[in-house]
Amino acid sequence: MTATAEPTLFERIAAREIPADIVAETANVIAFHDIAPKAPVHVVVTPKTGAYRDVVELAAGDPALLAELVDVARGIAADLADGDFRLVFNTGAGAGQTVFHVHAHVLAGGLEEASLG
Ligand code: 5GP
Repeated sequence: MTATAEPTLFERIAAREIPADIVAETANVIAFHDIAPKAPVHVVVTPKTGAYRDVVELAAGDPALLAELVDVARGIAADLADGDFRLVFNTGAGAGQTVFHVHAHVLAGGLEEASLG
């Protein structure tokens, strides 16, 4: 018998096993409001597959899927804010990553006071 990995939290959200406030979906990507928002608009965008732990793995393994994810993020910022957005990939526990299924945080709306520049 082949060992089967436990589904990740975000795979379970994509499968509708765990409820979430879903705002966008494509064939391969799903987006939902973060349960603990850090900005007026704070949406998690993630591939439906949990095969990639972080953005470095995703970029190396499936760059087209990364591009699809970024395009979903663009659409969310256009739909829910003025089109401008910050895209954050926490990468590794030391950088604050807690869910090891690659995902981007789309942060938008009233970020002028929080500029990194
Ligand atoms: P990370 O810390 O890994 O970069 O981001 C994980 C994000 O997922 C956190 O911002 C956290 O608030 C969010 N999160 C964790 N569990 C859930 C959940 O069950 N539902 C939703 N909608 N967001 C979650």
